[in-house]
Amino acid sequence: METIYALSTAAGRAGIAVLRLSGPRVREAVFALTGEGPGPAREVRLSRFRDPQTQAPLDRGLLLFFEGPASFTGEDVAEFHIHGGRAVVAAMLRALSALPGLRAAAPGEFTRRAFENGKLDLTEVEGLADLIDAETEAQRVQALRQMEGALGQLYEGWRARLIRALAYAEAEIDFPDEDVPGGLTRKLLPEIEALAAEIAAHLDDGRKGERLRDGVEVAIIGPPNAGKSSLLNRLAGREAAIVSEEAGTTRDVLEVRLDLGGVPVTLADTAGLREAAGAVEREGVRRALARAEAADLRLVIAAPGAGGDFSLAREGDIRIVNKLDLGGDVPPGVLGVSALTGQGLDRLEAALRERVGAAYEAREHPMITRARHREGLGDCAASFARAGEALKAERDAELAAEDLRLAARALGRITGRVDVEDLLDVIFRDFCIGK
Ligand code: GDP
Repeated sequence: METIYALSTAAGRAGIAVLRLSGPRVREAVFALTGEGPGPAREVRLSRFRDPQTQAPLDRGLLLFFEGPASFTGEDVAEFHIHGGRAVVAAMLRALSALPGLRAAAPGEFTRRAFENGKLDLTEVEGLADLIDAETEAQRVQALRQMEGALGQLYEGWRARLIRALAYAEAEIDFPDEDVPGGLTRKLLPEIEALAAEIAAHLDDGRKGERLRDGVEVAIIGPPNAGKSSLLNRLAGREAAIVSEEAGTTRDVLEVRLDLGGVPVTLADTAGLREAAGAVEREGVRRALARAEAADLRLVIAAPGAGGDFSLAREGDIRIVNKLDLGGDVPPGVLGVSALTGQGLDRLEAALRERVGAAYEAREHPMITRARHREGLGDCAASFARAGEALKAERDAELAAEDLRLAARALGRITGRVDVEDLLDVIFRDFCIGK
């Protein structure tokens, strides 16, 4: 195993920079740069870093050593907290690269080693990545929880129960004539149905965890010139979309990212919906419709007069009449605003916050955050259904066992733990079959 190093903080000028090393040659590297061993693990030491060849001083900073396996990667790890100047970082990296057996880390390689050494499961790795990418408060809460193992524990708990059930099924297959109470496999049915119900409930989550991770899609729709771009600009607090007095200028889908009460929102201004004149505009309308169709929430805007036209609106949409400054009535259940004067925008923002924030904020229980999880759980549920059928029909126990094995594997793929056979050995050991 090679020893790897990398700049773990962002590149560029800063107060400090942290270089991280992991692998079997960490102690040697520390000695080469500081002239001393790493000292006791987990104790900070002020060190002078020198060029190993010339002994010229490179910087003075803090040294932190973690002895494997009690480290992030499970290997020996050292951190050099140095000054965050470009030349300092460059000189230190140059010195490290000249040491034998050391090389620059590939992207994600520290975390990969942590996974391979059993320090993190795959859901925790994803949680870590999401935490680094988190832009809003609710995203941070969700990512931190996943990084700390909430999702992985849920899945591993299911997998352990499943493998126990599987062990019973196998016992009956392997020792059919033994004094195992008859119809043991039938006794599995309640446990399998309970597991299947828990997984189904977990899957039936309105994709909220995924929405929170990716951003909730909000589409602004309405006829040309209703003020969609103006409203988007108002909400975004900056000039994000082109506002023009000529109808049909918003030909494509423009979007801005908003942080609504901790929930990330992608607000999309769609092309005006009308009988399109040109081909380009027709394409804009097609995209607008597709986008609006897929959106989690839609703001339907009408121009004032005649009570507004909300023929496009469906249940759950927020209905808005814009250009309130020009006068006109606001029908009940409709929000009156003026993108020009800002009138009514507080209420619109509050409505958005309520709808988005309440629906998508991080939950108490862990949520599915990626399609990968959903696919694994779907496979697991399908295998469960087949196993349940086989058991109910009192068909061949081996068929049911095979499906349970597939279900366990599907769960194991989500966490990255696919060692079904190892677990079976462990579980078999506390079976009182007496053989
Ligand atoms: P879109 O086609 O729906 O995106 O509409 P725009 O945002 O481009 O606005 C069309 C025209 O209406 C522009 O001239 C805007 O300045 C104007 N407009 C937008 N909102 C208001 C408003 O609240 N009051 C008034 N008086 N004019 C507005």
